[in-house]
Amino acid sequence: MSRLKSVDQETIRILNQKKILNLLYRNNKLTKQEISQKLNISIPTVISNSNELIEQGFLEEAGVAESTGGRKPTILKFLPDSRYSFGVWITKDKVKIILTNLNFKIIHEIDFSMPEKLYDFTDVISKTAEAIEYLVNNFNISPDKILGIGFSLPGTVNEKELLLKNVPNLGFKNVSFKKFERYFKFPIFIENEANASAYAETFINFNDAKNSLVFISITEGIGTGVVIANNVYKGFNKRAGEFGHMAIVKDGKRCNCGRKGCWELYASKKALLGAYREAFNDVNGNLDDFLKKSEMDLKAKAVLNTYVDFLAEGIKNIILTLDPKNILIGGEIFPYKDFIEKELIKKIFTDNSFYDESQCNVMFSNLGENAAVYGAALLPMENIFFLNDNVL
Ligand SMILES: [Zn+2]
Repeated sequence: MSRLKSVDQETIRILNQKKILNLLYRNNKLTKQEISQKLNISIPTVISNSNELIEQGFLEEAGVAESTGGRKPTILKFLPDSRYSFGVWITKDKVKIILTNLNFKIIHEIDFSMPEKLYDFTDVISKTAEAIEYLVNNFNISPDKILGIGFSLPGTVNEKELLLKNVPNLGFKNVSFKKFERYFKFPIFIENEANASAYAETFINFNDAKNSLVFISITEGIGTGVVIANNVYKGFNKRAGEFGHMAIVKDGKRCNCGRKGCWELYASKKALLGAYREAFNDVNGNLDDFLKKSEMDLKAKAVLNTYVDFLAEGIKNIILTLDPKNILIGGEIFPYKDFIEKELIKKIFTDNSFYDESQCNVMFSNLGENAAVYGAALLPMENIFFLNDNVL
């Protein structure tokens, strides 16, 4: 009985500390009285817990505020440089590594190209480890301030078992990241890139998007991260949200996943580039030039129009399946926002009797191309901000 009671007390203490940390993270500075009022906890509880957070380096006392009667209230301030985190985003083409503080200020970033043909993940991991070692040494950051390394990966992920389960676009299955732990001095965490992007949206880009959103990451393929009531929905086998592989054309093009007519074959960035190259018989053409051409040239315009049609059809299916409040689009397609966004929104909301623009907010993420790598850097921070892992 007494044992149970002491565990509960400990949980409450930790929960209160996380609440205080979250509140100051959002507000930067508050008085102890304000914290007590906003969190509905007593001032002695605020004082004892914030003292522990000061000892751990997360907060400092920053003077006093004007008195509203009685003693002048002490101000507490959040210290974003008290911890650091690494985010690693692996795509088919490149690896991007960032070092950030707790406010997601990028201290430094490095990227390198993926090998032409990837036979083994070990090469990529050892190169990543070298880059991280370099950053730690060159930026003189004390290793005990580094929370860990988060990886944002282009496939389905079991985050608890550190297992990258299926990456059809790279031709890998069941890659264990446990065996890669020995390459690093810090704890490692992994997540699917679209889920990581959705985490980034809910936490960093704190707005009304946080409760209910679908993040659509458009790169080589299409990944989607689904947030329902503040939790990322991963499903029973941890592969929910594989909308990139829903069939959009019956008996359509053959996909790496084994199915035919998958959405990503028609609506990924790779699909758009492929369609342009085919239409103009130009195997080396690049997306920037093709899209510029589409402003004047009717043939180029038609390619873009067909692409946006396919993108819109998939998003309509997602809206009808999940009824999310927000749909955010990001990934490597982000730089082409201005060519796509307006027409896409128009197509999504015409010709349907179920919903209109006021019921679902569709937009490109304002984290831009960085959502996945920010999401990766967020993974090691979750322990300090949350009690539970926010996964359904
Ligand atoms: Zn597929």
